Amino acid sequence: ASGLELLRDPRYNKGLAFTEEERDHHYLRGLLPPAIISQELQVERILQNVRSYENPLEKYIALMDLQERNERLFYKVLIDHVEELLPVVYTPVVGEACQKYGNIFRRPHGLYITLKDRGHVLDLLRNWPEKNVEVIVVTDGERILGLGDLGLNGMGIPVGKLALYTALGGIRPSCTLPVAIDVGTNNEALLANPFYIGLRQKRTTGKEYDDLLDEFMMACKQAYGERVLVQFEDFANHNAFRLLLKYGTTHLTFNDDIQGTAAVALAGLMAALPIIGGKLADHKFLFLGAGEAGTGIAEIIALEISRQGKIPVEEARKAIHLVDSKGLVTKARFESLQEFKRPWAHDHPPAHDLLSAVKALKPTVLIGTSGKGGTFTKEVLEEISSYQNKPVIMALSNPTSQSECTAEEAYKYTKGKCVFASGSPFGPVTYEGKTYVVGQSNNCYIFPGLGLGCTISGAIRVHDDMFLAAAEALAKQINDDHLAKNQLYPSFDEIRKISAHIGAAVAAKAYELGLATRLPQPKDLFAYAKSCMYSPSYRKYR
Ligand code: NAP
Ligand code: MN
Repeated sequence: ASGLELLRDPRYNKGLAFTEEERDHHYLRGLLPPAIISQELQVERILQNVRSYENPLEKYIALMDLQERNERLFYKVLIDHVEELLPVVYTPVVGEACQKYGNIFRRPHGLYITLKDRGHVLDLLRNWPEKNVEVIVVTDGERILGLGDLGLNGMGIPVGKLALYTALGGIRPSCTLPVAIDVGTNNEALLANPFYIGLRQKRTTGKEYDDLLDEFMMACKQAYGERVLVQFEDFANHNAFRLLLKYGTTHLTFNDDIQGTAAVALAGLMAALPIIGGKLADHKFLFLGAGEAGTGIAEIIALEISRQGKIPVEEARKAIHLVDSKGLVTKARFESLQEFKRPWAHDHPPAHDLLSAVKALKPTVLIGTSGKGGTFTKEVLEEISSYQNKPVIMALSNPTSQSECTAEEAYKYTKGKCVFASGSPFGPVTYEGKTYVVGQSNNCYIFPGLGLGCTISGAIRVHDDMFLAAAEALAKQINDDHLAKNQLYPSFDEIRKISAHIGAAVAAKAYELGLATRLPQPKDLFAYAKSCMYSPSYRKYR
């Protein structure tokens, strides 16, 4: 390759870090100024620039530009400064980036598959330059974070999630493929925006939609084999549950909003038990939001209670109630309920809003998965702390603007009694002299490790027990120091080690269940997982 090609290929470019020998051997003389700068110093320079932007969206654009220019440097910056940069490449800033995706468009990322490509989806996958894809994240853009239908602008989500697969889970960047499926959008503002990047039509549903998804799922296996992991992300719930049911038995696939979120929330609850007392089975759970995240978390809690107590899962479900936009989910509403809510339709008098449900049920754990900001009101928070000494409050909706309450509100209105966690990041809160650290209950703790576990074991299916194993492995990271600050999730500083632990636990489960194909099983799965992780340090070119 010519020197210029080397500089222009983000996979090989090192910028000013090319050594004298490399500059000689690869025709780079004259194409670079004479200064030679180490990767560490480059990281410092990037950080200075990113920090100098006041507008978060500018930070996002700067990082995306870096990813397109110098991939290893991008990952090095991200890995060395996860805590600081996660909110930029992921929630909340990625939400704003998706809303304005067309307006800030510079270069395409990932693969765009539209209704017009029916019959040719495999050809599109073949246009993708990488042949060894291991992890795909796909969205159809209909429910991006709590921001609703953003159509093809949703591409920001698979791109961001896969950057985390690499940075947090050590999956090689060349083995990741972001996909956005364009079946139209019902977002009028986008359809009227001249810079919108997608098809200008209303969403297609029914057979046309199903056929395109079917073709895509078949093509994934044809192009990349049986063991390619396909993660569904930010689909609306009328498709999410059905697609999971349909492809869960034929593909290595999972839905992160349903299952990944479930595992991360369960980990937080397990970690909270030493503070709040008792076993999971001793608690009563109330959810605001009965969609993918809500029913997904509810089900994994029920599975864990049933496993621990050796009782049927139907029995375990009775301690868990959900409120949706129409009020408490009850038996009286059964006929009109969507399939995924029906297991939660208990025999209980109606409650029309969250406050009356809290009063009637007296939950000890309140979980927000509604996508509606500000719904854990002062009254709700005061009520739960009136009868419960250590209520758990989880406001899981993203981005920050949709969080059911802020960390500050939670501690203030419960008079410092609660244990709080949230889906988007909040800084520490001081209430009456005591400082609380807010753990981020976000599925990004789980999916990178889950993906790592699947790839290192050659898993052919994702099983529920793998999520339980992942949750347990994450909860184990919480120690007394964390608990003293009500911190239910570890800091991101050690996330790669944590992902290796989760990966090892998931792989062990895959072997145990006979779902692993990479044989023989490595003796020390943790060491093996670590050894497989991508390192962003520059390589020497001969
Ligand atoms: P979803 O399937 O659309 O479910 C939303 C649920 O909230 C529905 O049951 C809806 O009721 C209910 N709801 C909406 N407005 C409400 C209101 N004002 N009062 C009561 N209930 C209301 O969405 P999802 O996939 O579960 O996602 C929900 C939120 O969770 C999003 O903000 C998303 O970003 C967040 N999330 C966070 C994580 C994380 O890791 N922290 C992971 C996944 C998702 P109906 O059923 O009656 O319409
Ligand atoms: Mn999501």
